[in-house]
Amino acid sequence: MFQDKQRFREFAVSPAFVLDECSEADVAKALIESKQQREPFYIFDMDEAYRHIQRFKQRMPRVQVFFAMKANHSEMMLKLAIALGVGFDCASPGEINRILKFGVDPTSIIYAVPNKTPEQMIYARISGVKHTTFNTACELYKIKQYWPDAKLLIRIKVESDSVYKLGEKFGCLFETEAVDLLETAASLGLTVIGVAFHVGSGCSSIESYAVGIRHARALFDHEARAGRQMKILDIGGGFYREESTKFDQVSQLITDTLAHLFPDPSVQVIAEPGRYLCEAAFTLYCNINKVKTVMRNDKPLNMVYISDGINGTLRYFETWQNVYKFNDKGRCKENLEDTVLYGPSPDSKDYLEVKLPRCTDQDWLVFDMQGSYTLVFSGRFAGYEIPLIRPIISKKIWAQIKDREIFNSGDFIVSPDLLAPLPSTLPPLLPYHGRTEYSHLVLAD
Ligand SMILES: *Cc1c(COP(=O)(O)O)cnc(C)c1O
Repeated sequence: MFQDKQRFREFAVSPAFVLDECSEADVAKALIESKQQREPFYIFDMDEAYRHIQRFKQRMPRVQVFFAMKANHSEMMLKLAIALGVGFDCASPGEINRILKFGVDPTSIIYAVPNKTPEQMIYARISGVKHTTFNTACELYKIKQYWPDAKLLIRIKVESDSVYKLGEKFGCLFETEAVDLLETAASLGLTVIGVAFHVGSGCSSIESYAVGIRHARALFDHEARAGRQMKILDIGGGFYREESTKFDQVSQLITDTLAHLFPDPSVQVIAEPGRYLCEAAFTLYCNINKVKTVMRNDKPLNMVYISDGINGTLRYFETWQNVYKFNDKGRCKENLEDTVLYGPSPDSKDYLEVKLPRCTDQDWLVFDMQGSYTLVFSGRFAGYEIPLIRPIISKKIWAQIKDREIFNSGDFIVSPDLLAPLPSTLPPLLPYHGRTEYSHLVLAD
């Protein structure tokens, strides 16, 4: 029962509020000022995710989007992605199952993780998924046995300057391993249909994409010389931080490099953005339970106890994810002091060090850019539930997407009550009716 409820919560999202032109901050303010909402909550600004998906497509018209759903698999995010016609990068049978249940065709899925057990391969194959990646001979032998008709992409390692490097764990070496692996695949009678790389999540060295595309070109040429034709180039994910001009630079570089090295339009070029599509669209609002100020090194240190933390959805709090005090005047950025934000769980490591104005237990905090690798990483250590999500969408965007098949009438509320709180995350009550037969130790009255 309890297990079921947790699964339910993970996937539960309340319907999206359709708004004239209310901003995400206005919606949060109304909800907080109503005093009815007592628990932390996320606002999912669907317009923001919509804009990021469209911008990605516009900036790189040659590149098809396969959303890396591990970054955020919340229901409305997936439905929006489906409505906008993107494909999906799945990392596990769990993700394959989740996206197939929405009615997505398995041929729109790339199972992009190069580590798979036989059971996972069989699961994908029977589900109708066709495409996956590999980066070792060991994997090829297994694929030969359990998924011989798979369309394979060789995953090569590309060095980069990234917040989360993936090259240590994934990817074969272009210089010394790739050609041997391609030959091994050919000798096993397997079909290698393309080349994949991932520069690492939060990649700031934009040149890395050009290096990856150049190496892919060399492998396409190797295969062509051997009489084998590859058809897919997968440039992975790693894109982030729209507020800088980085995304413009990187998308321009990719577009130019593709025009130069892959002018043949019959080569399908795909990308697997995760973070970029959803990060800016989710904002966390968190209430404060108590505060206390101590002196540390002759300076005040504010200890602020809040209702979410690193064992909840704040597991990887990034340097670009700002936290502000949120009160009736909006976001306060003045008089910043050293602050420790303690999460709710009884874990001494459950804290974040930040700068904030002094707070009271009446204030709320707002955390920006919380849409990627937050909800999906959350644990429920010590029985704490994670915040629920309130999606919002403007009338303008809603009018464009509401009739897509993926949505049903319950997905949107057109004249919403902005003051209505989200459902409680407390477990169902079990009222006490006197001692049960299983009481053993009893505490003194
Ligand atoms: C995680 C992952 C992605 C998405 O990465 P982002 O940095 O979120 O864009 C894409 N492809 C693969 C294979 C991944 O493992």
